[in-house]
Amino acid sequence: MNADDHCQKLVGSLYQLLDGEVTEDQVEFLQEHLEECGACLERLGVEMHFTLLVRSRCKDNEDCPDHVILDIKSALQAEITA
Ligand SMILES: [Zn+2]
Repeated sequence: MNADDHCQKLVGSLYQLLDGEVTEDQVEFLQEHLEECGACLERLGVEMHFTLLVRSRCKDNEDCPDHVILDIKSALQAEITA
């Protein structure tokens, strides 16, 4: 698997993360990849950290505000398609 594949996987996992559909292993992969991939960190680092923050906060709180998730999603979309 080359770096590009990793970056593709990261983007896919990030969307799953926003939907709350990732496993602990995937979260670990995302964090590790961001640490070693400058391109992804630069492109997705902010959203990623924000997403993880939201998810960890919402873990104990079932009614995670949808608009927060939507904000992150649209910010991400803008980043990726830029
Ligand atoms: Zn990458």
